[in-house]
Amino acid sequence: MLILFLGLILVAAAVACKSDGPDTAARAAAADAAAEAAAAANPGNPFFRPYGTPFNVPPFDLIKNEHFLPAVKEGIRREQAEVDAIVGDAGKPTFENTIAALDHAGIFLSEVNSVFGALQGAMTSKEIQALARETSPLLAAHRDNISLNEKLFARVKAVYDRRDKLGLGREELFLLENTYKDFVRGGALLDAAQKARFRELNQELSLLSLKFGENVLAETNAFQLVIDNKADLAGLPPSVVAMAAAAAKQAQLEGKWLFTIHVPSMTPFLTYSERRPLREKVHRAYFMKGDNDNELDNKENVRKIAALRLERAKLLGYPSHAAFVLELNMAKTPGKVDAFLKQLWTPTLAKSKEEAAELQALIDRDPKAGKITLASWDWWLYTERLRAEKYALDDSALRPYFKLDNVRDGIFALCGKLYGLKFIEKPELPRYHPDVQVFEVQEADGRHTGILYMDFHPRPSKRSGAWSGGFRRAYYEQGVRVPPISTITCNFTAPTADAPALLSIDEVETFFHEFGHSLATLFSQGRYRSRTVARDSVELPSQIMEHWVLEPELLALYARHYQTGEAIPAELVAKLEKSNLFNQGFITAEYLAACILDMAWHTAPDPGAADVRRFEQGVMDGLGLIPAIVPRYRSTYFSHIFSGGYSAGYYAYIWSEVLDCDAYEAFKEKGIFDRATAESFRKNVLEPFGTEDPMTQYVRFRGAEPKIEALLRHRGLEAR
Ligand SMILES: [Zn+2]
Repeated sequence: MLILFLGLILVAAAVACKSDGPDTAARAAAADAAAEAAAAANPGNPFFRPYGTPFNVPPFDLIKNEHFLPAVKEGIRREQAEVDAIVGDAGKPTFENTIAALDHAGIFLSEVNSVFGALQGAMTSKEIQALARETSPLLAAHRDNISLNEKLFARVKAVYDRRDKLGLGREELFLLENTYKDFVRGGALLDAAQKARFRELNQELSLLSLKFGENVLAETNAFQLVIDNKADLAGLPPSVVAMAAAAAKQAQLEGKWLFTIHVPSMTPFLTYSERRPLREKVHRAYFMKGDNDNELDNKENVRKIAALRLERAKLLGYPSHAAFVLELNMAKTPGKVDAFLKQLWTPTLAKSKEEAAELQALIDRDPKAGKITLASWDWWLYTERLRAEKYALDDSALRPYFKLDNVRDGIFALCGKLYGLKFIEKPELPRYHPDVQVFEVQEADGRHTGILYMDFHPRPSKRSGAWSGGFRRAYYEQGVRVPPISTITCNFTAPTADAPALLSIDEVETFFHEFGHSLATLFSQGRYRSRTVARDSVELPSQIMEHWVLEPELLALYARHYQTGEAIPAELVAKLEKSNLFNQGFITAEYLAACILDMAWHTAPDPGAADVRRFEQGVMDGLGLIPAIVPRYRSTYFSHIFSGGYSAGYYAYIWSEVLDCDAYEAFKEKGIFDRATAESFRKNVLEPFGTEDPMTQYVRFRGAEPKIEALLRHRGLEAR
């Protein structure tokens, strides 16, 4: 569950400068001429002319792979020209001619990149991967050309140094301070030799991160468990068998059953299969991804990425990559994160040990199990049985109430109650895959808010996980709001021949979660294009949405049986609520173990010399993690931190959870559909998200800083 939005962290970007004067006018004319020449040289390329589509959405029906490279190159050229125009401005540096102009630069490039980034995640191919390898170093060099541009930095610094005397508004001051900080963190204060090395490091890191992600995807796709013997389906419910049969058919294995280590296929298998050796085979394939000593092995990439990040941090004067990253977060220092995680770890470990003992006792009572010790590949099966025993609740009895369309409409209904939003399907808009759904989002009075793309099911071309991104972020162009285009991409259970897509509770939560990210994008009222979101506050808008999932008042609206239309029975809801804290020790332990592993890699004094397996084992031994629990991500497939933007930041989810649990208390106090509370959350937190210090926003909404108690209660970890 992550958020990807190109340039989520402040991206220096800008358009032709707005200041007047003959100089500027001449340059603007030259820029127009160059853009026209480029368009003439690329006649069939849709990026080179206005999209001409409704809501100005990307014309996916016209975009072909061969359009990307020339468009990226043109985007780089234009942004560079825009930067040159700022630098060449004869006037004294001002907020408008330097900071605002820089913010407004690079629109062409970000439009191209946002489309390319979406396809890279959701519709990749050998061709797209090759393109990424070609454009990635170009873009890294381009970013360095801007952040290491000395004349540009001198102008930014000149404005920054006078910041107290400029009478700037809150948003302007925040943008100025972050633009300056971004330059410093981008190497602006380094000497020439250091700058050269800094560039090399960024180039190498951009390629290593790509390679890391490609290996993870290839390893995930490489594994297949093909079952051709009915006896090996023992324990699997009919819906899971049907899904495996459909997958086999799609893979030209008609008549057999196919399971993979994509999560929607693996989790039901681990939850129900009575064939222990097969469970072991599947789970091992999952947690050994990238660690098979083959050509897709990621151990060397892990070492190199961690070592190069450390070198870069030291170059900039930080003791570790974690120190470099955390400076921008609410947590501020590695010490604060470590202390926070430790505070949670102790009660979590105790709880996970209690859970393991309970599962072992269940195994010991199971005549079919034999004398076995609980292993990681047993956890799902016995947890599910224990859940059934304790709460008489099983996943396959719940799924019929969570048809994908019903869940989607439930989220729409929630947004209607809280914010008055309306969602209008737009099947006529171009999309990159026929499965994608597109909606226009409107305010209660019919005003246009933005566009939302949703892409729900797994494909071999799609990265695993779920994320929210976008094709355009809201900003103001001469006083008029440019509306945003947000995307949600998931890997939810697919429909089968006999049934529509029926979601697990986890998937329902994920959907609400990603929708929360999209709401922050859709509601954004930022005047400028740049946003600076502290990584550990970014999950507040998303995670708060998860609190509504099991609220009986909302369930009554959306959780309806897909065949009978009957609302989810009250006793099932009661059981769901009662089982809320079930397995929280495991869930929290596997997550915290991954957080601590992330921090370990990014504070280690010499990660380049580490033996990856031993390093990881050392961290887990230090924690006392029980062997039946594997960290949610092992190093070799920890894409969040080695190819995504969450390095030294995976803890951010639970840090944000302190915020979202505390924030949701406000709804509980006033009523879960309270319009005034929702409006205050929208105005104070979502609309200005990323344009101001997050704690300031939070306090404006809640009246006080958040307390940890609501989180501890929420996870059943209090007073142990
Ligand atoms: Zn998220």
